[in-house]
Amino acid sequence: MTAVVVSDRETSGRSLLNRRLDGLGTTIFAEMSALATATGAINLGQGFPDTDGPEEIREAAVRALRDGRGNQYPPGPGVPELRTAVAGHQSRRYGLSFDPDTEVLITAGATEAIAATLLALLEPGDEVIAFEPYYDSYAACIAMAGATRVPLTLRAPDFRPDLDALRDAVTPRTRLLLLNSPHNPTGMVLTPAELAAIAELAVERDLLVVTDEVYEHLVFDGVHTPLISLPGMRERTVSISSAGKTFSFTGWKVGWVMADGPLISAVRTAKQYLTYVSAGPFQYAIAEALRLPDTYFDGFRVDLRRKRDLLGDGLLAAGFEVYQPEGTYFITTDITPFGEKDAYAFCRTLPERCGVVAIPNSVFYDDPDAGRSQVRFTFCKRDDVLTEATTRLQLLAS
Ligand code: PMP
Ligand code: GLN
Repeated sequence: MTAVVVSDRETSGRSLLNRRLDGLGTTIFAEMSALATATGAINLGQGFPDTDGPEEIREAAVRALRDGRGNQYPPGPGVPELRTAVAGHQSRRYGLSFDPDTEVLITAGATEAIAATLLALLEPGDEVIAFEPYYDSYAACIAMAGATRVPLTLRAPDFRPDLDALRDAVTPRTRLLLLNSPHNPTGMVLTPAELAAIAELAVERDLLVVTDEVYEHLVFDGVHTPLISLPGMRERTVSISSAGKTFSFTGWKVGWVMADGPLISAVRTAKQYLTYVSAGPFQYAIAEALRLPDTYFDGFRVDLRRKRDLLGDGLLAAGFEVYQPEGTYFITTDITPFGEKDAYAFCRTLPERCGVVAIPNSVFYDDPDAGRSQVRFTFCKRDDVLTEATTRLQLLAS
């Protein structure tokens, strides 16, 4: 029967994919990682470390599995140990107080947190203002909710948001601001003044705000400030983070949402029907990870800052224009110095030209001109891998 339906659709020329998802195709991360696998190139594309996180945290996951903790459906909102650890982390680092029972929700990575939040809070036709270049799942989730994406373009070389343009972008249909700081892919980190201006606007125009803070521990100068800590923001902000980047276990997919009770309750309603729950034993391990001493978080940041400089210097030496990131583990570059303009075409051929994979930022923009020649490289790799990659990239200039 299914085959008949498919063939009916094909003969009528209708796409199987619904209109809302039209054009989203395969994620650029999957496409470029597949290219790396197929060609054997060094993968500086998709952001995942080539070294696992702390051994004691991996052991904690093994222990949980062996002890039978989380091997059957854990509670829908997440195991109490992890909800308590998330609340403890927010209190210790930012002086924020969240009730683990009513104001914290555990999700399948930040990806599910974003999806559940947008599906819960948006009506069809609502407008969502988000920075572009945007993390790709934002576009997909806004589309799935039937809402409209309104981009606020971050422009090279410093990628600072234009706060006047942000103010002008708010209309009576604007439901929420979807913010990401530290920002993937540009590495921009919002300043205290920018955070204050955004908060003021959100209060004035009565907007909800969703903050994606998955790189909260990768701010190289200064400190991360959650927008939810600013005056007037607590009741209108959904704060999202996850374990993947901070603890170098991106495959575990443990994330969390923090917000006031009514917002959490709305997000939980959507989340229940996406995955219900996820990753039982890993939740116990991440509860331990969140309680690691400050020396872990400091060491992680210092190591990544050193890698940022190693890769940045190598990319400069290879001839790229390099935009120094203030946070995240990505460096955005421009390929114009090579006489090239099309980041996607460049990334498609980079493995055969010099055995390296990168991500074209151009796919994260609605404005095709804004990021046409920008290419992103990750530096969450071993030093020898970064050095070998930049040596190979020097072939571009020869
Ligand atoms: N938001 C941003 C900005 C990201 O870069 C990523 C990738 N880690 C995610 C969300 C998704 O995080 P997770 O792997 O926890 O789903
Ligand atoms: N966040 C990762 C990156 O930006 C990718 C995660 C994914 O593949 N969806 O590289």
